[in-house]
Order: sequence, then C-alpha cells, then structure tokens
Amino acid sequence: MTDSFHHDVIVIGGGPAGSTVARYAAAGGADVLVIDGRDPIGTPLQCGELVPSNDEMRRLCPDVPDMDDLFKTPQSAVSRISTEMHLVPPSGNPLKFPFEGYVLNRVAHDEALVELAKENGAKYLVDSHVSRVEGETVYLRNGSSYTAKIIVGAGGHNDPLRRDFWDESSTKIPVKFVLMDGEFGDAVELHFGSMAPGGYAWMFPKSSGANIGLGIQRSFAKGRSLNKYAEDFISKYEGEVSFRGAGSLPMSGSIRTFVKGNYLLVGDSAGMVLPSNGAGITIAMIGGRIAGQVISENLQNGTALDEYEKRWKKQMGKVMRNSKRAFRFGSLMFRLPNWMLNALFNRLTKGIIWRAVTCRRMFWII
Ligand SMILES: Cc1cc2nc3c(=O)[nH]c(=O)nc-3n(C[C@H](O)[C@H](O)[C@H](O)COP(=O)(O)OP(=O)(O)OC[C@H]3O[C@@H](n4cnc5c(N)ncnc54)[C@H](O)[C@@H]3O)c2cc1C
Repeated sequence: MTDSFHHDVIVIGGGPAGSTVARYAAAGGADVLVIDGRDPIGTPLQCGELVPSNDEMRRLCPDVPDMDDLFKTPQSAVSRISTEMHLVPPSGNPLKFPFEGYVLNRVAHDEALVELAKENGAKYLVDSHVSRVEGETVYLRNGSSYTAKIIVGAGGHNDPLRRDFWDESSTKIPVKFVLMDGEFGDAVELHFGSMAPGGYAWMFPKSSGANIGLGIQRSFAKGRSLNKYAEDFISKYEGEVSFRGAGSLPMSGSIRTFVKGNYLLVGDSAGMVLPSNGAGITIAMIGGRIAGQVISENLQNGTALDEYEKRWKKQMGKVMRNSKRAFRFGSLMFRLPNWMLNALFNRLTKGIIWRAVTCRRMFWII
C-alpha cells in the first residue's frame, strides 16, 4: 500500500500501450497494477500482426530515441521477416518498395510485453473488467475496487476513461481478417481502392499461411456491408481459413489532450494509430514509454503529468501530422474510380505514394 492508496498507478488494459506504461513506470520505482479483462492478455487475436523492424522504425519516427530499448521483440514472437512491401491499386499491379517488417505472432508478442513489465515489478490482475472510474477509485464488474494516485486508460478503442471523461470523437474503421493456410511469398501487401473504401486491405505472409483482412469507412461503403467487402477480398486468395477475427481501428490520429488531472490515456484510447498505414502497436509503445517515464518522474520529483504530451509532440508530432494529412489526401484520392486510381499508381507518383504511407511530407507544401 502506498500512503492511503492501494497502488501508485493503475493501468486499465495490458496491451502494448498498457504493458509498456507499466514496464517503464515500474522500472522507475512505481507500484503499478495492470487490470485487464482478458485472460490470457492478447487473446483472441485482433490484429494484422505487422510491425516495422527497429531500423524501419528509426526511419519512420526519426525523433524517437533509443528504439532498441523500447522494442525488444523476441524471435519467438516473429513469424516471418519480410523485406518488401507492395502497394497495390485495384488493377493488382503493385508498386514495390524495400521494407523490413516483422509479421508477428501477436499473442506471443503481447505476452512478452507482459513479462517485461512483470520483470520490472508491475503486477497484473487478469480476467477483471473495469466498469468505471470515479475519482481515484477503479471499479470492477465483479464488485471489487482499487485506488491509485494515477490512473491510466490503455483499454483500446473502448477504454472506460476515454468513454467517460473525454468528449473528443474519433473515426473508427471496422476491420475483419482471417488467418489462411498456404504459401504467400515474402512481400507484405497493402491494397487501396474500391475493394476497401476509405480504408485499406492487407495480406501479410507468415512463416506458414497469411493474415488477410480489410477495414472500411462505412460512410464510403455505399450501403455494402463490411462482411461483403471482406468476403470478396479474402476470396481472391486460395487456402483454408483457420481463424476469423474482427476489431476496430481509430483512424483520426492522436487526440488533442492525453492528460486530465491524474488520468492519462495511451495507445488506441488516445488515437495513437498512424492513419496512413494503420500502425498502432509500435506507436502505442512509443506513447507508453513516454507516459511510464513521466509517471515515475511525477511520483519521484513532482514532474507535471502534462510533460507526457510535450514529449509526445516532440517525438511524434511531425510524423502524426504528416500521417493525418496523408490519410485525408488518400481518402479523397481513393474515392476516384478504379481506372483513375490505377493510372495514378505509376512510376512518377511512386515516391509520393511511399512518402504518404511512411508519414513524410508528400510535396514541399503539404
Ligand atoms: C483487426 C486489426 C488489425 C490490426 N493490424 C495491425 C497491424 O498489422 N499492425 C499494427 O501495428 N497495428 C495493427 N492494429 C492496431 C493495433 O492492434 C492497436 O493499435 C494496438 O493493439 C493498440 O494497443 P493498445 O494497448 O492501445 O490497445 P489493445 O491492444 O486493444 O489493448 C487494450 C487492452 O485493454 C483491455 N481492456 C479494454 N477495456 C477494458 C476494460 N474495461 N477493463 C479491463 N481491460 C480492458 C483489453 O482486454 C486489451 O487487452 C490492428 C487493429 C485491428 C483491430
């Protein structure tokens, strides 16, 4: 017990964001309890499972320090290392780019993050759903409650802190995916156009089989259901489906404020997904490290919690701004008829398209 509180910090959600907050806050001496509704954390799978390698992350987010300390992805969590990305218009003729990415075993990846946090002293309470937060008290569905000086909402897109204490809305795109058996080569594929209106589709090859799925913006879908789009896209690939999953991705980029009093949001709950490429795992971890470090400094020497927002802006502000801009530009572009889109994916535009997907300025003015 710390003072009259059960814990210094309670983190709601032990996904990539929450476990990373817990790891760094606990490493700085805080007494941290992570509460997660799932058991085991990370199941069932809700992910495309692609993350950039640490070298790609250094290129993608050049202002983020010390990537190798943050991303310690164990080999056991990597299903395949891919060296090429294909950006595919409706014609199916891809633009090809060198890209080093890890197609993960996401469940093993999240388990490894839990272990890292535990090694640093964080405690976990699983199979425990947080129903609400009042003041410094976190209430569980099973009737128990816990208090903490600082409460972190890392519960993803339905996080209870975000739901009850923030009024900013985010665009969420619904997503469906499958795991399919078979051989799918080495390149990861992102598909754009009418097969996934307002979103994108993917095929990420694993050591055996692939993770295949898509997300759409319903307002772009002309009354057709996500199921129908998913069925059409997935049926282009041949293989036995071994798993079906679904989820939701926040696609408005990071929200305006992450801190309210002693409440902090991290990861999907704070919109920390790069909308131009759907990267959320690594970005949640970048936010999680900053939040965890600032929390431990707050407890040790009174550093203001909103220092977390300042450091986030310094490390990720430019990348997030460019990604939001590219997503808005893409949303307009991908409303074009397929023939026009096919024509726009060419050797001359190749560099601009890559810059958009990798969150850099597309042109000198935007
Ligand atoms: C289908 C799909 C495919 C994706 N593909 C990719 C991809 O290929 N690459 C990539 O980088 N990103 C991808 N993403 C995004 C990525 O999964 C998220 O950005 C990332 O998981 C965010 O981490 P998080 O810790 O914020 O949230 P989550 O991983 O969602 O973790 C939240 C945790 O909080 C717990 N929780 C929620 N509410 C409560 C509650 N009330 N009480 C207790 N516990 C609670 C949940 O059980 C969960 O464990 C994908 C997302 C989806 C849905």
